[in-house]
Amino acid sequence: ATKVDLHTGRKDELGELASTISKLSNDLERVKTERNEFLANVAHELRTPLTYIKGYADIVSRQGISKEDKKEYLAIIREETEQLTVLIKNLFELAKMDENKFIIKPEEVTLYKLIQSVENRISPLYEEKNITLSVVCPQNIIVFIDPERFQQVLVNILDNARKYTSVGGQVLLKVSRKDDDISIIISDNGEGIPKEDLPYIFDRLYRVEKSRSRQGGGTGLGLAIAKEIVESHEGTIVINSEQSKGTSVIIRLREVTTDE
Ligand code: ADP
Repeated sequence: ATKVDLHTGRKDELGELASTISKLSNDLERVKTERNEFLANVAHELRTPLTYIKGYADIVSRQGISKEDKKEYLAIIREETEQLTVLIKNLFELAKMDENKFIIKPEEVTLYKLIQSVENRISPLYEEKNITLSVVCPQNIIVFIDPERFQQVLVNILDNARKYTSVGGQVLLKVSRKDDDISIIISDNGEGIPKEDLPYIFDRLYRVEKSRSRQGGGTGLGLAIAKEIVESHEGTIVINSEQSKGTSVIIRLREVTTDE
């Protein structure tokens, strides 16, 4: 609120302007620092796979290397190239989101059907790790969403639940409605997230354990992308987690209701 000069009874507009300008310049400074940190992180993330690729390419081109070793090292080169490709694709997506060039094409979607197709896509990976995926979803919920984008959100989250849960674990995707509020809860009984990491979990390139996430093909951008997409649908996404107990991701959306 603008201060009022007690003697003249006038509002201190100049003072208010000065404090607005000072706040703006602080904000600018913070944005600059954040951008620099982000660029440094990007550079690091690009350098890691490149180091592997170069290293193994050098070894492979040496003389006298056995056929088996060659095969193994070429496989690593391929994996690292794949990792780079995914990272660059995700960085591009986020850049588009930032520039508002990210177009969502919402339509009326039966949530149950969308979840079924996500389940079909992801279940081979779950089977590989012997993790049970249970789905509970009413069949008659209709939401106004971009189906492709929303599948991407659910795939990212379900893939995390799989990656950070040990063999034989359990994941539950449960959809419920209260009036026209829809919640989609994805919970796992995996390793959980330490309390001190939770505030940063949606930050770009943030990972609790860098090496483990990298081995699982993670880039630290999955949750950042999921959040952008959910929020561009005017929904919300939050994470609750307890270390060694498990993690729940909660997405909230509005149901399409007919005004009759
Ligand atoms: P990543 O590609 O590394 O999985 P994300 O943005 O999807 O990146 O997730 C960020 C980090 O949050 C992960 O590296 C992981 O440490 C943590 N995380 C995400 N989901 C889970 C989960 N279900 N259980 C435990 N940790 C998780």
